Formats: sequence, structure tokens, C-alpha cells
Amino acid sequence: MNPFVYQSLPTRVVFGWGKLSALAEEIERLGAKRALILTTPEQQALGEQVAALLGDRAAGVYPKAVMHVPLEVAQAARVEAARLDADCCVAIGGGSTIGLGKAIAMDSGLPIVAIPTTYAGSEMTPIYGLTENRLKKTGRDPRVLPKTVIYDPQLTLTLPAQISACSGMNAMAHAVEALYAQDANPIIGFMAEESIRSLALALPGVVNDPQDPEARSQALYGAWLAGICLGSVGMALHHKLCHTLGGTFNLPHAQAHAIVLPHAAHYNRESAAGPLQRAARALGGSEAGEVGALLYALNQKLGIPLALADLGLPESGPADAAQIACASPYYNPRPFEQGPIEALLTRAMKGLAPA
Ligand code: NAD
Repeated sequence: MNPFVYQSLPTRVVFGWGKLSALAEEIERLGAKRALILTTPEQQALGEQVAALLGDRAAGVYPKAVMHVPLEVAQAARVEAARLDADCCVAIGGGSTIGLGKAIAMDSGLPIVAIPTTYAGSEMTPIYGLTENRLKKTGRDPRVLPKTVIYDPQLTLTLPAQISACSGMNAMAHAVEALYAQDANPIIGFMAEESIRSLALALPGVVNDPQDPEARSQALYGAWLAGICLGSVGMALHHKLCHTLGGTFNLPHAQAHAIVLPHAAHYNRESAAGPLQRAARALGGSEAGEVGALLYALNQKLGIPLALADLGLPESGPADAAQIACASPYYNPRPFEQGPIEALLTRAMKGLAPA
């Protein structure tokens, strides 16, 4: 057996249908009395509901979270938290809202209670992102890891089917890459496999009937495990390509993840044959070489648009992105090779199956 290091993340997790109702108790457990509730403008009404639930434990609702945490948005939120004398943040929403909570925690040390309503996984990671002058910087800081996470699948019912599908495949990408991470370990391997199996089972059900409580619960469970994977081990080629496509070409986060994943997994099929065989089995297949096709077929089944061109990637995109990715590669089981990476991105741009 290979030697390994495993570090668990000290987050308390409360999971269950309707568990938003446990929020006041969880805040009390942290010894906090004045929670600043963070949302996006689109989810402000949900934030107001949470404030009503908390009564005088709510310091206010701050509905200004936006994608990629611009520095000026983070700074304004920090000022507001201090002005309201908040002693904790409740971040209810997707990765953008949780990202804003992290930006406040980084500066002030305020504890975060995260209530995720997508499958992105930020709530389980000590990773933060801040965007300054259109450049997103990311880093790790244990202070930004939420103290408590409430997973209430009921809150995901309003996430539209198509966004749910892409967000679920975004989670799937964390689990697939965790299997062949440089610092992979047996515990995260178990979680990754279970995550892939749960998401593959649940997402078609979510798309078929977005109100199905069982499918929603199973999907959020898979997303939780994927979030642990993302927070615990390093990611590889797939995440590098998606960060490049998001950062340089402004492609939407979850959709880009969904489209690229089959191609990135296929690229690694020989160099990470053992780990990808585990992924194949969790997807209902048997061989590492099938993973790309299995993921592509799942995307098709979920009705996800398959071409990066449809997301706005220009003709020059594959060559440019391959060059940028190869200039500062992440660890990957198969070395970054510019030609083959450009080729895989070209297929992804056209919506073709991995080859
Ligand atoms: P998002 O948070 O940007 O949400 C997208 C939109 O969906 C928003 O308008 C939001 O209000 C809305 N929404 C969310 N949940 C909803 C629901 N249940 N019903 C209706 N509308 C809902 O999207 P995301 O994909 O969750 O997050 C993406 C961002 O998170 C990116 O910036 C990404 O870099 C970041 N991220 C960070 C980490 C990390 O570890 N730091 C991990 C994953 C993602």
C-alpha cells in the first residue's frame, strides 16, 4: 500500500429535509448572537425568510453577493459586518454567496454557517477566491472554512433543472479528480466513489422531476462528499482547464465544468487507469477507458449543452487555453501536453465525444 497523509476538515454538518429549521440552534451552539445573512440579489427573499426565522439573532440581510467575489464587493461587505456588529455570517446560496462569507471571515475571523443551495461544494473547503482588476486569486486559509454547514435539500427545489444538472456535474468533477489526485488517500477515495455513484444516480431524477425529494436529497449528499474531496486533496488538469476557461474567457463556471469533464478524464485514462476504473464502476461501467464516454453520455442524458462554442468560446479558444494551461500546469497524472490538450478542447468546443 502506498503511504498517505489524511487530514480531516473540522466542519460540523447537519443534513436533512427541512433542516434550515435548526439554524438558530446551530448559531447558538457557536455562541453567536448577531448573524449577518448573505445572499445574492436573486435570493434576497430567501435571506429575509432566514432573518425572520432568526428574529433578534439576525443582524441584517446583505443581498449583494456576485460571481467571483470582486474585491470592492468583499470590502463593502466587511464594512457592513463591522457596522452591524455581526458576530457570525450565515451564507445561504451557491458558491458566490459562500465566497463572500469567506472574504469576510478572512479579514475578521467571523465564523460562517453555510447553507448551500447549489452543488458547487465551496462550503466544505478552506479555499477562497478574490477578484481584483479582473484577475481572480485563490488561496487556502483555515479561517474561511465554515464552522457549520446545513444541507437542506428542500432549498434546492428552486434550482432550475438545467442549472442543477451542470452544478451536479461540477461536483462530479471534484470527485473524479480526487481519485487521481497527487495527495489521494483511501478515505477520500471512498468518498469520491460514493459521490460519483450518488450523483450519477440522482441527477437524471432531478432533471426528470426537479421537485423529487429523494433525488434532490441524494444529489445534495453526493455534492457534500464531492465538496470534501475538493477541500481535502489537490485538483488536476480538469480544474486547471476550467479555471482558464472561466478566468480568461469568462465562460460560466458549472457549465464549463460539465462539458470539459468527459474530455479531461479521457485524457488521463491510461496514466490514471486504476483510479479511473473506480470512477467507471461508480458510473455503471467497468474500464478506465470508458469513463470519458460514460460521462459524456450522462451529460447527454441530463440535456446539458455539449459545446463550449455555445458558451461563447471563440475559435482561437482551444489553442489559447491550452497554451495558458501549459504555461502554469497543476499536477496531473499525465503531463500537460499542449497539442493533445488543444485537441481535447477543440472537441469540447464542438460538442464532440472524447476521442
Ligand atoms: P452561484 O453561487 O454563482 O449561483 C448562481 C445563481 O444561482 C445565483 O444567482 C444564485 O443566487 C442562484 N441560486 C443558487 N441557488 C439557487 C436555488 N436553490 N434556487 C434558485 N436560484 C439559486 O453558482 P455556483 O455554481 O454555486 O458557484 C460558483 C462560484 O463558486 C464560482 O465563482 C466558483 O469559483 C466558486 N466556487 C468556489 C469554491 C471554493 O472552494 N472556494 C468551490 C466551488 C465553487
